[in-house]
Amino acid sequence: MKYSVNHPEIREAVSKLCSNFPGKYWQSCDQDKSYPHEFVEALTSAGYLSALIPEEYGGQNLSLSEAAAILEEIHKSGCNAAACHAQMYTMGTILRHGSEKQKQAYLPSIANGSSRLQAFGVTEPSSGTDTTSLKCSAKLKGNHYYICGQKIWTSRAEYSDLLLLLARTTPISKVNKKTDGLSVFIVDLREVPKNTISIKPIKTMMNHSTTELFFDNMPVHQNNLIGEEGKGFKYILSGMNAERILISAECIGDAKWFINKARSYASEREVFQRKIGQNQGIQFPISRCYSQMRAAELMMHEAIRLFDLGENPGEEANISKLLCADAQWQAAETCIQTYGGFGFAEEYDIERKFREARLYQVAPISTNLILSYIAEHVLDMPRSY
Ligand SMILES: Cc1cc2nc3c(=O)[nH]c(=O)nc-3n(C[C@H](O)[C@H](O)[C@H](O)COP(=O)(O)OP(=O)(O)OC[C@H]3O[C@@H](n4cnc5c(N)ncnc54)[C@H](O)[C@@H]3O)c2cc1C
Repeated sequence: MKYSVNHPEIREAVSKLCSNFPGKYWQSCDQDKSYPHEFVEALTSAGYLSALIPEEYGGQNLSLSEAAAILEEIHKSGCNAAACHAQMYTMGTILRHGSEKQKQAYLPSIANGSSRLQAFGVTEPSSGTDTTSLKCSAKLKGNHYYICGQKIWTSRAEYSDLLLLLARTTPISKVNKKTDGLSVFIVDLREVPKNTISIKPIKTMMNHSTTELFFDNMPVHQNNLIGEEGKGFKYILSGMNAERILISAECIGDAKWFINKARSYASEREVFQRKIGQNQGIQFPISRCYSQMRAAELMMHEAIRLFDLGENPGEEANISKLLCADAQWQAAETCIQTYGGFGFAEEYDIERKFREARLYQVAPISTNLILSYIAEHVLDMPRSY
């Protein structure tokens, strides 16, 4: 199979690290619903999670292309970067919009792993995709903001020291545009009074360590406001291209894993005294998945190329996320079908990866919202919401 050859040294090293975390490791985390601490620690000590942090703050100062290769390789190896990918890119909000003091205070410890920035609190139960309608409020009294409200699907909050939080600082009735009046805070969960926050795990179909957060007048020092008050929505949006591209890389990694599993199994499994892969009904869907994956991968590479040139590839990043998640899901579906009954047995890992892959049609951005973006911002059609 012809696979990406960019950054071969990174790919080889990541793949070697991942070989220490075989299917059995992930099956056991999955059964216990436990966080893959050992895997996250191994990636942290190898410096992979600090890929995008500049050298002056202790990071690896890599390009997005290299960061994408790391995530793709993790998924191609059958591992799951969703346990820790936020450490790699959530810090971008501090890097782009934080003060020098904030960068010095947080980035070096995020880079060396002594501060885990794994949690990103945007989504709320009542507003969902309609982010600007969120209700979580932050009111300044003296030198502290007091946070009240709720977040949902805040993944990894139990395994994070820091939380990047979006809250409303000016009521929606008092702003000209719904996108104004939202602010971003970096919250140190080790310091906030325990009786002002509660973290409730949500059980999901895959092992994802996601939670609900409840804030009851949680004090956050005004020094923890990132950038200007009221501009938070723009700050969050400014990280979306990178996020879409890095998620695309995870999808491509998964697609390659599923395709590889399917073609190997189809080439070995014999039924009716012949390899099942000799049947075109088995081999054609796998060929189609491979072709879809390659096309999606090309779009991802184009998005990466433009991003690393310093451009703002909204169109390419969104299309890349759409195509890569579709290629991943098609490969998952084809792989489980190729395995027949064995695809459902835990020991083969297909059913686990299948459950994990389904998420990417919904989070971090659902397919419909990507399609709306393309309709409105690329095709110049009327806004649909
Ligand atoms: C496992 C998991 C982990 C997550 N981790 C995080 C996290 O760490 N931090 C965080 O902030 N969020 C997180 N999320 C939230 C995730 O980003 C949202 O679930 C996602 O954006 C969709 O929002 P929603 O669930 O509220 O769906 P809703 O907004 O209720 O939408 C439901 C469905 O309707 C569709 N829909 C809604 N409006 C429109 C429209 N105008 N046009 C067409 N279709 C529409 C949506 O596409 C979706 O399919 C996570 C979610 C999951 C499931």
